[in-house]
Amino acid sequence: MTSQTRETPTPDQIRRAPKALLHDHLDGGLRPGTIVDLARAQGYDKLPETDPDKLGIWFREAADSGSLERYLETFAHTCAVMQTKEALKRVAAECAEDLAEDGVVYAEVRYAPEQHLEKGLTLEEVVEAVNEGFREGERIARENGHRIRVGALLTAMRHAARALEIAELANRYRDEGVVGFDIAGAEAGYPPTRHLDAFEYLKRENNHFTIHAGEAFGLPSIWQALQWCGADRLGHGVRIIDDIKVAEDGSVHLGRLAAYVRDKRIPLEMCPTSNLQTGAASSYAEHPIGLLRRLHFRATVNTDNRLMSGTSMSREFELLIEAFGYTLDDMQWFTVNAMKSAFIPFDERLAMINDVIKPGYAELKSEWLFKQTVSTSTSVKKKP
Ligand SMILES: [Zn+2]
Repeated sequence: MTSQTRETPTPDQIRRAPKALLHDHLDGGLRPGTIVDLARAQGYDKLPETDPDKLGIWFREAADSGSLERYLETFAHTCAVMQTKEALKRVAAECAEDLAEDGVVYAEVRYAPEQHLEKGLTLEEVVEAVNEGFREGERIARENGHRIRVGALLTAMRHAARALEIAELANRYRDEGVVGFDIAGAEAGYPPTRHLDAFEYLKRENNHFTIHAGEAFGLPSIWQALQWCGADRLGHGVRIIDDIKVAEDGSVHLGRLAAYVRDKRIPLEMCPTSNLQTGAASSYAEHPIGLLRRLHFRATVNTDNRLMSGTSMSREFELLIEAFGYTLDDMQWFTVNAMKSAFIPFDERLAMINDVIKPGYAELKSEWLFKQTVSTSTSVKKKP
């Protein structure tokens, strides 16, 4: 590591740095103004606020409240206004635009098609509307000078019984914008093994999936997701920390499961702010991502729900940089980790790393080198 890369990145550099995002929920990232617009157009009158600024604050406070009912209510509102093709397309397009504006160059955005059927759409219509929106958002981003690629992950809800159907849907659209599958929802009481048929189907189809595990619930959930279901990645996975012992002298001992996760390079889709809100971590400085990064787990940085957490990829990195003193090298490490773990084909991942991510960071680092050279030559000239 050269001296200039040790400097703390500025907010502007963090935003311009190419970032890759693997864990972001479509129904958790709407613009407050769009929710107000869509609610008005669809005659939905249950929003707690109709002023976009106040509504944005309401979402963050509800998510911060520690009350599960209030947290779930936030998604009831966003899903309520995402029940038509036009609404889904708009929300997906704005999602791609907002991520691109924030310097995200690759994103996998997930949503549960079964939650968008209230006004009569079919599962296929939901997927096609969202895909159309992502393509539209990518096009608008390109016009604005940004480059982003967005893939969809189809989520099945843990408490429901449609996982196999949604897995089949993910497989049907795998060459048309859907890159994988996920299960989400309450972990306690709904172990991933309830949906074994879906995972076995996807494995037989050589398809990819991630599982929300090790967030609210601990090691057994992670173990099941990996060893029973065969997940390619772990959504959150923060509780893997329970299988790592740090002794007073600083020596570290990994249990069998933690060692397996690290040895097999299982990607951890970590979402710091979201984890603080749900109580899975108590502060940024104490978030397990610090130790996991030091121990070279395949850790990645993600947003989870940008609206409810009032966050963005840049914001998550700013907070981690503040907590752990991370540099552009660390940011690049997390970003390359995410890109290596993406569900698109290997050659396309490699192209993103070599043609977009590495040159992007090299350019940012060269700004410092240039600054240093200029200040050195200036100070040399000033000498008598
Ligand atoms: Zn999530």
